[in-house]
Amino acid sequence: MLKVTEELMMKNYKIKSGTFELYKQALNDVKEVFEAYDEIREFNQMKVLTALQEERISESHFTNSSGYGYDDIGRDSLDKVYARVFNTESAIVRPHFVNGTHALGCALMGNLRTGDTMVCISGTPYDTLHNVIGISGKENIGSLKEYGVHYKQVDLKDGKFDLDKIKEILLEDKSIKLVHIQRSTGYGWRNSFLVSELGEVIKFIKDIREDVIIFVDNCYGEFIDTIEPTDVGADLVAGSLIKNIGGGISPTGGYIAGKAKYVEQAAYRLTVPGIGGECGSTFGVMRQLYQGLFLAPHVAMEAVKGAVFCSRVMELAGFEVLPKYNEKRSDIIQAIKFNDKEKLIQFCKGIQKGSPIDSFVECEPWAMPGYNDEVIMAAGAFIQGSSIELSADAPIRDPYIAYLQGGLTFDHAKIGVLIALNNII
Ligand SMILES: *Cc1c(COP(=O)(O)O)cnc(C)c1O
Repeated sequence: MLKVTEELMMKNYKIKSGTFELYKQALNDVKEVFEAYDEIREFNQMKVLTALQEERISESHFTNSSGYGYDDIGRDSLDKVYARVFNTESAIVRPHFVNGTHALGCALMGNLRTGDTMVCISGTPYDTLHNVIGISGKENIGSLKEYGVHYKQVDLKDGKFDLDKIKEILLEDKSIKLVHIQRSTGYGWRNSFLVSELGEVIKFIKDIREDVIIFVDNCYGEFIDTIEPTDVGADLVAGSLIKNIGGGISPTGGYIAGKAKYVEQAAYRLTVPGIGGECGSTFGVMRQLYQGLFLAPHVAMEAVKGAVFCSRVMELAGFEVLPKYNEKRSDIIQAIKFNDKEKLIQFCKGIQKGSPIDSFVECEPWAMPGYNDEVIMAAGAFIQGSSIELSADAPIRDPYIAYLQGGLTFDHAKIGVLIALNNII
């Protein structure tokens, strides 16, 4: 680090010398693990570049449509680009998905019918899906449960898929139509599933029941490996454009990719039966969606490097972290266990203080829509709530775990984490 950089940091953020020592040691320790991520980044950049070239994308794809948006060439071609990236028959990428939950919800609601059962085999799914499924306790909101779709869950065993239970449930309950798997940790304390691990469990399931739809919540997982869940047998994946795959540029939206018949059913839920993905004007955002995808392999790895660094420096500072800096990752999330409400809040406030936007505001825990505990979110982002930008959030519950993710640039992630650590040392 340049002497002037160090001086500027000291001056701007009153970094204590002890914090700086940890910072430097962590930076030194993580160097060795970055090489593998650079190789994945390079491959994925090629993958995206090739997909854009094969679809012959040009300036004319960035034009706007209005009204019904029939034959919006930018929209329809981006679907094809995503299908190439995910190696699937079909994809639907839309600014009309208001967030990742909406995309996941459409995939589930579009493909499940009364009397069907969905089974989640990675334990409790992400908080915002509880309302969609109907396990939040809220009534009369039009959840899957209210439409007569049943829900079952197989918990993880020591952080791994419980194969015996999965087999048992698949053999005994013929109403199971869809298996839901969450790649990322969400607000859990476990490792994200490597795509190779997903491939193994998918094969295991398909050998027992060929007919079930394998659906993977791919949020935070895109471009962290050279393959995606759809390369190893997933029938359907979904995610958010204000996470990895939007590259920090997409202003909003979500995607679903997979087998054509399942993507189509999901599209009928995004709009209405019979219309599906054929309508929907695009508000002039297509250029950003394309450019975001192009940048995504790079940006996702900047975020991973931020997470790796955070893991090491927080571990050096004496906190329990998951994953460790040198463990193989399958998402961009870094969990830090504080066992202390105040430290957790101060850490998040520190991330906020280090943000380019709204650095001067104090974030506080609040009752966010879709979540059942209070949540604190540090997100001083260019795009509201964008968690491919440096952000930290945490449900306020014991044992007070913060989830850090993002950083459009590794340099920013480093500085943000430094300030946050300094806040609690
Ligand atoms: C972010 C996320 C979602 C969707 O959340 P939104 O805030 O609605 O985009 C779903 N599942 C997981 C695992 C996530 O990380």
